[in-house]
Amino acid sequence: MTQYDYDLFVIGAGSGGVRAARMAAGHGVRVAIAEQRYLGGTCVNVGCVPKKLFVYASQFRDQFDSAAGFGWTVGKSTFNWTSLIANKNQEIERLQAVYNGLLQKSGVSIVTGRAQVLDAHTVEVDGKHYSTERILIATGGWPFVPDMPGKQHIVTSNDMFFLKELPKRIIIVGGGYIAVEFASILHGLGVNTTICHRGHKLLQRFDEDICDFLASEMTQKGITIFFNTDITAIESTGDAFVARLIDGNKVTADLVMYATGRTPNSTGFGLEALGVELDSVGAIKVNSDYQTNVPSIYALGDVTNRVNLTPVAIAEGLALVNKLYTSQAIPIDYDTIPTAVFSQPAIATVGLTEAQAREKYPDIDIYKTSFTPMKNTLSGIDEKTLMKMVVVRSTDRVVGLHMVGADAPEIIQGMAVAIRAGATKAVFDATIGIHPTAAEEFVTLPIAVA
Ligand code: NDP
Repeated sequence: MTQYDYDLFVIGAGSGGVRAARMAAGHGVRVAIAEQRYLGGTCVNVGCVPKKLFVYASQFRDQFDSAAGFGWTVGKSTFNWTSLIANKNQEIERLQAVYNGLLQKSGVSIVTGRAQVLDAHTVEVDGKHYSTERILIATGGWPFVPDMPGKQHIVTSNDMFFLKELPKRIIIVGGGYIAVEFASILHGLGVNTTICHRGHKLLQRFDEDICDFLASEMTQKGITIFFNTDITAIESTGDAFVARLIDGNKVTADLVMYATGRTPNSTGFGLEALGVELDSVGAIKVNSDYQTNVPSIYALGDVTNRVNLTPVAIAEGLALVNKLYTSQAIPIDYDTIPTAVFSQPAIATVGLTEAQAREKYPDIDIYKTSFTPMKNTLSGIDEKTLMKMVVVRSTDRVVGLHMVGADAPEIIQGMAVAIRAGATKAVFDATIGIHPTAAEEFVTLPIAVA
């Protein structure tokens, strides 16, 4: 007789929680997973998946415009937001059903409702108590919005996926992933788009050349970007909103969206009373084995605020299960995580930025190229591509690859394998290109420019 109802009780059925639950169940572990909102979490419901569908929707205008250069005559096109939302909702419901099926098939008990951690081995959901040997917190994060007068008027990315109608003008506050992705989507759909960012560069943690290039491409497309600014108040005029900026200027729009980061979902469900340690932004502190200071409680994914990306949460779920329930623990290499921003043009990157590399190594060579992609020689679209490679001269190791341009995420995903495998510049140079592609530029970068 085992002492507990379950071996592992997972709280949060997002990317990381579901992966951990399914993998653990596959090893014969008795697993339950509690979810209060939607199966699939942020990524499936209000993140990566619907966002990417919106990105596709927003690219058609350019594609229609490009067609004439290739001999096509395209009829008058119109866009229907309601129809996009309905189709998107249908696809998300399909994915939720897939998640449900996968969990059921692997033998995981799904508990619907808000979980409360009562003690180190007990979880309560809707008045029912479940005892468990271990608890895994995978509760993700939630949009953070700073306080300011008029805060009640704003929306966040969560709301954008369910808007009743598309605004004609929008102000987007922030300069991170979500701000630039939504700015590109909305601009592509014909919305007059203004970004208000407190910093002097978009995407501060990315390579500087990449940030500058993206900002100039976005501006050139017609997106207005105000840097070094902040909103002091938002006022409603009845049919619009006026944002007051710190320099006294005002911007008027039909909608104001805040994309100012996300806060870990770590409070209000019992962890404080148990003494689970949080950091200054409320992220759950874990050791390298995802264990909190309460030994039976683990946490992974965005609630630990380390690398807040879906594939990382999934990898952490797998790493935790391997550690706890198998003899082959495989730690994650957090240094070579590729990432993409689905702005237009898109960004993708793996490894060190030039600045990070210069801090770490005394001898850095930079290879760089920017060009008009072949399609745009006839398309009439004035969008360029930038590629950058960061190499340590003494070892010839490629330690960073960065790209802005069409298909960048698809290209860098493949390149990330080479970086992970420790490829040198000589290996890149000895690789035959695929012609004509943009990707071949990465194997034909001749001379260091810095
Ligand atoms: P980010 O951390 O990427 O960006 C937040 C932005 O908001 C920054 O520009 C930041 O400025 C600004 N900001 C923060 N606080 C304030 C404030 N009080 N007032 C004004 N501006 C402020 O967060 P996002 O919300 O864009 O996205 C959250 C996370 O979700 C991302 O970091 C990423 O991990 C993940 N994500 C990943 C995606 C992908 O993989 N493609 C897509 C979308 C999200 P500053 O730079 O000055 O701090």
